[in-house]
Amino acid sequence: MSTARMMKIELVRADEELYCVSCGRRVTYEKNVVVFKCPNCGEAKIVRCNKCREHVNDYVCPACGFRGP
Ligand SMILES: [Zn+2]
Ligand SMILES: [Zn+2]
Repeated sequence: MSTARMMKIELVRADEELYCVSCGRRVTYEKNVVVFKCPNCGEAKIVRCNKCREHVNDYVCPACGFRGP
């Protein structure tokens, strides 16, 4: 969990809105949101909310279409 927080600080600007890629909700001010680079293309930023991580919902990379849990 602490690793995810560090990644979030690196990847997200303070004025940037975050939308979960799985459920589409705005999660900018929610806790336990993770942000990471797509493991396939390394370009796109993937945002996942706490609920989607709990339910292991799929995400799809907006840049390359990679689908993963
Ligand atoms: Zn979500
Ligand atoms: Zn990708």
